[in-house]
Amino acid sequence: MTEKLFRSGYIGIFGRPNVGKSTLLNGLVGHKVAAMSPRPQTTRNRILGIKTTAQAQMIFVDTPGIHEPKGPFQEYMVREALKALKEVDLTLLLVEPDAQTFLHDSWMKRLLEECKAPLILCINKIDLVPKPSLLPLIGAFESLYRFEAILPISALTGDGLDILELEILKHLPAGPQYFPEDQLTDLPERFLAAEVIREKVFHLCGEEIPYAVAVVVEEFQEREPPRPIYIRATLYVEKESQKPILIGAAGQMLKRIGSAARKELEPLLERKVYLELWVKVEKNWSRDRKSLKKMGYGGLGA
Ligand code: GDP
Ligand code: MG
Repeated sequence: MTEKLFRSGYIGIFGRPNVGKSTLLNGLVGHKVAAMSPRPQTTRNRILGIKTTAQAQMIFVDTPGIHEPKGPFQEYMVREALKALKEVDLTLLLVEPDAQTFLHDSWMKRLLEECKAPLILCINKIDLVPKPSLLPLIGAFESLYRFEAILPISALTGDGLDILELEILKHLPAGPQYFPEDQLTDLPERFLAAEVIREKVFHLCGEEIPYAVAVVVEEFQEREPPRPIYIRATLYVEKESQKPILIGAAGQMLKRIGSAARKELEPLLERKVYLELWVKVEKNWSRDRKSLKKMGYGGLGA
């Protein structure tokens, strides 16, 4: 009897902001690890989700979206995305169910040029298009590039994800189990806390607050149970005028953000959490290289 080969590798999930990368990652791994939000650009750092089965270990890399760079922060994100592209064994490219947009996307072209690993195209959000239009859509994408496979999926409903997983397994190289079975992410819990808080800001603050909110976890103290984990985080905004929006009347908004974040963090950390939130103004943090570094978006070059 031949022993079955164990497979493992890094799988990059690429695509425009809002195309459904985080949703897909969560759907595949089965646990919530990346920030999800109805707004674009909530994923700024690379996040690993890990799925281990009897035959394989799939290590998913969720990356910053590919953007036209405007300013150092955007340039940083593009560089991170392209860097991640070189480190993966397999690439999932996520697109909207619309071949025309794709065709005119110069960044997509750059991505295709730089991609060395096998490329699987996932046409996401097929729950939004009528069934008969799927075949012509697949045909349109087929004519654009030699994809390893083209799979229509819905990250949201889970449609097509089982087939996608089989396709992923087919292309993973033989390799060892890099991470313990129960490990979902290699991120420090501190970062997880920041991600969850940032997600709540996006969800609760509506239109008034721009994407430019950075969350820094200043303190993360695990104390003897049953005492809660103590987390102190600062929400950085760019302008004085944004501060009262984030804090809300009588601190109500900040309270809601804190309580929503705590409720999500407690089951993830499997402990009670005491969360303290502060709001500070750091002028032009998304444009200023020094502030970016301080907030952990490092590696901005000279
Ligand atoms: P990301 O920016 O690429 O990480 O995108 P997200 O995963 O944060 O998703 C952006 C938005 O698209 C969210 O509101 C998701 O609920 C939604 N979304 C993601 N996948 C699907 C899908 O398959 N169908 C539909 N209808 N919506 C989706
Ligand atoms: Mg995302």
